Amino acid sequence: MARRTIYNVCPRCGANLDPGESCTCEDHKERSEEFSSLYFEQWEQMKLDLRSREDG
Ligand SMILES: [Zn+2]
Repeated sequence: MARRTIYNVCPRCGANLDPGESCTCEDHKERSEEFSSLYFEQWEQMKLDLRSREDG
């Protein structure tokens, strides 16, 4: 019985990585700020829409 796979474990997020694979969590982290601000804008817009519907 040979060990087929030795996973690297990302020290940041604990994800199992294939040998040579680099984790994308850092990438996600940087993007998430960008994404959340975009999402926040959409959410604010959605709330405005809902409110105007309730009023109307
Ligand atoms: Zn990671």
